[in-house]
Amino acid sequence: MSNLFCQLWILLLFASTHGVHIDTGRNTHMVHWNHDQNGRDWEGLCRTGKSQSPIELTKRFSEHKRLPNLNFQNYFEHFGKPSVLKNTGYTCSFKIGKTRFSENLEVSGADLKGTYIAEELHFHWGSMVSKGAEHIINGRRYDVEIHVVHRRSIYNTMQEAILHPDGLAVLAIMIHIPDYRESGNYTDARHRDIHRNLTTLGDLAPHSHKRLHQTPQSMEDFLMLLPRIQEYHSTTLVHPAVTVGIILKKLEIHNFYSYHGSLTTPDCQESVHWIVFREPLIV
Ligand SMILES: [Zn+2]
Repeated sequence: MSNLFCQLWILLLFASTHGVHIDTGRNTHMVHWNHDQNGRDWEGLCRTGKSQSPIELTKRFSEHKRLPNLNFQNYFEHFGKPSVLKNTGYTCSFKIGKTRFSENLEVSGADLKGTYIAEELHFHWGSMVSKGAEHIINGRRYDVEIHVVHRRSIYNTMQEAILHPDGLAVLAIMIHIPDYRESGNYTDARHRDIHRNLTTLGDLAPHSHKRLHQTPQSMEDFLMLLPRIQEYHSTTLVHPAVTVGIILKKLEIHNFYSYHGSLTTPDCQESVHWIVFREPLIV
């Protein structure tokens, strides 16, 4: 495959399943929806929309295209100040601020309509008995799905962006966690901890420290932060030398599915250009 081009799979068939989550900041203070019925009790667009996400992504119902590469700006740059990792009640949300040079993290290229500014990333995980990913790729649901949420640069806020069909771009990255029992890594306590943290958020005692003294150097390091915020609305600070680029380092960024869809939690606005990477990260 040429490195000059992305392989893009545009979905021709939309098959709505159930909700995913994008935190626009509106739900910070009051929980007024939940996943008790997997979104079947959500009203409005969530029920009546025509481009609802997530969907099942299959090669069979996709069109294969070659496009310019995705262009990532400042993803490997350090932040200007520590970032907040927060338990929002729905997910763990990592606020993406400006770099130490006061610049935004931006993505453009491929079939994106413009430049999109990174706002936050969050996780979707399951339990010991169910996978957590939102999108299904060629029949497979992975353990964890990361969403990196961006707003188009011509809109000033997330609240403004979600009102427009081209308002948001979300990068979706799957994570596959080989079961340590299957892989034979019985003695790898670190591996076992990551697996446990991601599937249940751990039964470890909540940490009280508010600052991380070590900079996460890998996805594994980053995921090990999650037990610090087990409590509702708890936060921890992440060292500014962390980069969002640690997610991209091992990612096959030339293969992805692209489609127009929606926020996956109420109010389910259809304002998202989804870029769903086909190959998972293995941690
Ligand atoms: Zn999400």
